[in-house]
Amino acid sequence: MSSHGQVELINDFGASGQRQTRKEVARLAGVKHVHKAFNWFESHEREIADRQLEVTAIPAPPFRERQRSEWMLGKFVECGLQQAHMDDVSNVIGLLPGTVQEPYVLISAHVDTVFSETQLDVRRDGERLVGPGIADNGAGLVALLAIAGAMQAAGIKTRLPLLFLANVGEEGEGNLRGIRHFFEDPRWSTRIHCMLALDGAGTDTIVTEALGSRRFEVSISGPGGHSWSDFGTPNPIVLLASVIERLSRIDLPDNPKTTVNVGIIEGGTSVNAIPESALMRVDLRSTNPARIAAIEAQLLAILKEVVEGAVNSFAVQSRVRVIGDRPAAELTQGAFILEALRAVDSQLGIKSHVHCASTDANIPLSLGVQALAIGAGGTGARAHTLQEWFIARERAVALKRILLTVLTVAGLTE
Ligand SMILES: [Zn+2]
Repeated sequence: MSSHGQVELINDFGASGQRQTRKEVARLAGVKHVHKAFNWFESHEREIADRQLEVTAIPAPPFRERQRSEWMLGKFVECGLQQAHMDDVSNVIGLLPGTVQEPYVLISAHVDTVFSETQLDVRRDGERLVGPGIADNGAGLVALLAIAGAMQAAGIKTRLPLLFLANVGEEGEGNLRGIRHFFEDPRWSTRIHCMLALDGAGTDTIVTEALGSRRFEVSISGPGGHSWSDFGTPNPIVLLASVIERLSRIDLPDNPKTTVNVGIIEGGTSVNAIPESALMRVDLRSTNPARIAAIEAQLLAILKEVVEGAVNSFAVQSRVRVIGDRPAAELTQGAFILEALRAVDSQLGIKSHVHCASTDANIPLSLGVQALAIGAGGTGARAHTLQEWFIARERAVALKRILLTVLTVAGLTE
């Protein structure tokens, strides 16, 4: 998960509906079985942390998550989840049946990391768990297992069935492919009541706004040649530099926040050769999809002008490839899942903050399905670096928060 900005949560729900929800949450928190699950969280912290070290040590780079998915599948079976299986893209799915067949409440955590196989050094250092991916999303994965484990141990049954999903492809080039695949599957696509994505550390965050992005690889190519004898042949690096310069001068609004980043440039082979090609990778982001589309149109127009304006332009070609596309979307005002979470936060004394971020929740939100991404507890820092760390202090509070929210939206059967 990557977060962008932070605003204080504003109360915008109908007062009476909210009072009802708060009453229900307070009632749930007092039920004996629910208490048993709460105690389970406290008494199993050591086991949860051990699992977190174990799962984080299994490599799961984008597109090569299978080994970690297999580990998750084994744990799903151990936790007593039914129909546990892996789908064609290595998403792992398991079920806790409800008293009705559908719709499902979906609880997910992404299995992939931004790291390659060789970078994983995972260890305990005092109260810290250290290692790349330990919080993002080692914390989310073990929270998923803890919820399933505690519910089974405490004998908690819900009205709506619960689907547990450990999905691939959330980070970077993964481009949300795991959650996309899940929502394209006709078994689930129209049957999801709402989704809670567990992503990274933290107890007080709520992501309700899905940050959209589109990413492109833009390349310009020409015949190339010798720097002296072929001088005058169009130079793709110079042309690309001109595109970048004009792109960087586009006026971007602060509200809705909209950004353009040229993150990578490549090109050329030798100082005394006119390059045959140059390329860049560009990331466009906005909370408003129309802004992303507008900047994309400007980028294409600039590219066309620069290429057509080149000397000997007949010899120049350009190519644009979409390498990432995450829809921007927002949770509707008064969404029941947010109302449930807010009531839970007030019950547990958590002061929460709303964020805008790019997470697995982008996909359901863009399809009109209610979804939130929240932290899986503890404190973490340095996500997406080799120095990432996590401290499990008060993890149980976040697990109680997740469980109570799930029970509020799914209904407890007594
Ligand atoms: Zn994450």
